[in-house]
Amino acid sequence: NFSIQLENKSNDELGELSDSIQRLANELNHLKTERNEFLASISHELRTPLTYIQGYADVAKRDHLSVSDRVNYLNIIIEEATKLTTLVTELMNLAQLDNNTFTIHKEWFPICDSLKKISKTIMPSFQEAGIKLVFICPKNYKISADPIRFEQILLNLLDNARKYSPRGTVTTVEVEQENSDLRIFIRDSGKGIPSKDLPFIFERFYRVDKSRSRDLGGTGLGLAIVKELIKAHHWEIEVSSEVNKGTTITIIARGE
Ligand code: ADP
Repeated sequence: NFSIQLENKSNDELGELSDSIQRLANELNHLKTERNEFLASISHELRTPLTYIQGYADVAKRDHLSVSDRVNYLNIIIEEATKLTTLVTELMNLAQLDNNTFTIHKEWFPICDSLKKISKTIMPSFQEAGIKLVFICPKNYKISADPIRFEQILLNLLDNARKYSPRGTVTTVEVEQENSDLRIFIRDSGKGIPSKDLPFIFERFYRVDKSRSRDLGGTGLGLAIVKELIKAHHWEIEVSSEVNKGTTITIIARGE
C-alpha cells in the first residue's frame, strides 16, 4: 500500500520526493535486470543437460549398437537426468528461501551430535574421493540453530571441500567457542579460490571453473543457498583461500 500526499508540500520536500522516486525507479530497474539475468542462467543450466539427454537418447536408439555402448549412453542419460533433478531441487530451495514467509526453527542442541550425524552421511563420498575427514569438537558445546538447516549448510560446504580437493588431502571441521559465539571452521587443502573470484562465489550460478564444476555435478547454487541460510540464522560466514593451498570457511554462529 503506497500513497503520497502532495498537498501543502514545499519545493524542498517535493525535490526530496522526486529524488526518492528516482532512487526507487533505479532500484526497480536493477532488480528487473537481475531477474532477467537469473532467468537466462536458469534456462542455460536446464538446457545443457537436456541437450546431452536428447543427443544420447538419439544415439542409444540406433539399431546396430553393442550392448556395452548402449549401456554407456544410457548411463550418461541417467547422469544428466540426475543433474537436472539436483538443479531443480536447489532452485526450489532458493525459491523457498527467497519467500518472505520462510522461517527457521532454532533450538539448542549439542553441536557434536549433529556433526556426528553429518559425518555419517558424508563420510562414504570422502572415502571414495580418497580425502580424510576429521572432526574436532569439544563435547559440551551447544549451538542455537535450526537442526535441519544447520545440516544443510555443513553438507553443502563439505561437499565443496570434497569436490575441489585432490586425493590424499585432509579436510577438517573444527569448532571453537568465543564468548557466547561458536566458530565453525571448515578447512580443506584443495585447489583454493583465486582472490579475484572470492567476492562473487556466493552469487547464484557463479563458478570459478564452469566446466569443472559441472563435471563434478555442481550447479553453482550451493553457496547461494548457504548464504541465505546463514542470513536466516543472523550468523556470519567468512572465506579465506589460497590457490593450490586450500580454503577455510568460517561460520560465526551467534548464541543469543
Ligand atoms: P558448485 O555447485 O559449482 O560447487 P557453489 O555455489 O557451491 O557451486 O560454489 C561456487 C564456486 O566456488 C564453485 O564452482 C567453485 O569454483 C568455488 N568453490 C566453492 N567452494 C570451494 C572450495 N572449498 N575450494 C575451491 N573452490 C571452491
